[in-house]
Amino acid sequence: MARIVMKFGGTSMAGTERIRRVANIVRKQQARGHEVAVVVSAMAGETDRLVNFCREANALYDPAEYDVVVASGEQVTSGLLALTLQALGCQARSWLGWQLPVNTIEAHAKARIDSIDAEALIASMQRGEIAVIPGFQGLSDEGRLTTLGRGGSDTSAVAVAAAIGADRCDIYTDVDGVYTTDPRIVAKARKQKAVTYEEMLELASVGAKVLQTRSVGLAMKEGVRVQVLSSFVGEDAIPADEHPGTMIVSEEEMNELVEKGDMERQHVTGIAHDKNEAKVILTRVPDKPGAVAHIFEPLAAASINVDMIIQNVGRDKGETDVTFTVPQADLARAQALLEDKREDIGFNRLITDSKVAKISVVGVGMKSHAGVASTMFKALADRAINIQAITTSEIKVSVLIDEDETELAVRVLHTAYGLDASDEAA
Ligand code: ADP
Ligand code: ASP
Ligand code: MG
Repeated sequence: MARIVMKFGGTSMAGTERIRRVANIVRKQQARGHEVAVVVSAMAGETDRLVNFCREANALYDPAEYDVVVASGEQVTSGLLALTLQALGCQARSWLGWQLPVNTIEAHAKARIDSIDAEALIASMQRGEIAVIPGFQGLSDEGRLTTLGRGGSDTSAVAVAAAIGADRCDIYTDVDGVYTTDPRIVAKARKQKAVTYEEMLELASVGAKVLQTRSVGLAMKEGVRVQVLSSFVGEDAIPADEHPGTMIVSEEEMNELVEKGDMERQHVTGIAHDKNEAKVILTRVPDKPGAVAHIFEPLAAASINVDMIIQNVGRDKGETDVTFTVPQADLARAQALLEDKREDIGFNRLITDSKVAKISVVGVGMKSHAGVASTMFKALADRAINIQAITTSEIKVSVLIDEDETELAVRVLHTAYGLDASDEAA
């Protein structure tokens, strides 16, 4: 007998028919003698719809009230899945974020899970009940609802798996594993048998939304076995048993797979894109110590993550332009905060551009192999794609480009790094 967490994403939960399919997979998994907890997302598109309501109500929305609105999507699907399981003759009940509770800390709209009280949950699973938990939601220490940031149900699932000491955390989605890039953009993307925690963490953090970044970090820290797989397989199958997806593994496990000839080591593991960033340019900022701190302090205080930063070479008059990116969702707040500090910072113009995309190339092989960045710049130059900003880490190179060129850039790079599946395999 194993203890298994099964997480189902928005596409799998979109409508009563699909929820019935999910209920069947869960029922069969439990019937094999396992203890099962299920974590669910809101129906596909629902969270976007709720976010839009918040924006329409108040462009500078209060994150605490935003959480009240957007957490509702998962409440609906968890109740519906429990009802559907009951209709199939299973014992099932929902456990809302505040009921377990899932204790969270830090900012609303991007809260971090601190702990989960799992005693009652474990007792219920041991009685043979299927526990259905809405992903994405938690409880703040002030007793208010919180949410974990977009894609947060993955993190809920991994946190539940860690709290109940699960043997496995299966993340069911609409693709059958982690690919070399988004298979919806590149038809020749290749499914990976395994990806290391470190690589997955980096891929997720630069926009491969198949797993939320925090879920990977948490799985790595807690040693949770995570598998990404599809829920859209034959009606009678238990996907985890019959259609394995991609395992997220440690460096040691990966080395074993490579030695056995099950995996090939490549310099580049994957390519990701992110259209959710926005570029901000502040012109004619005084070129003196402390100026940059004045810009970023208010953003940090408001928990706005700044990603790429460029400070141009100073002009003659001791002035410089500072360019950086923030998440698009935070752009309105960032703009308001900076306008507020116009006097202190001393900039001239504030220019924003949301029509940008960040394209990143990731691979641990970069640590020992030179030339990955230059291959990227050359491949983009050959297609006349202009680079607006660059950042690098030990295992990643990212560039900022015009959003309209996203798909082209990803395809060109996928080919340039030799990642395309052969025509036969594709
Ligand atoms: P869910 O609703 O199940 O959480 P998401 O939409 O959050 O699903 O994540 C799955 C999507 O991630 C896929 O449909 C795919 O378009 C996208 N994706 C991006 N990069 C990758 C990748 N490298 N491998 C697989 N899927 C990817
Ligand atoms: N429903 C939330 C979102 O769309 C959380 C999730 O699905 O993971 O971001
Ligand atoms: Mg997701």
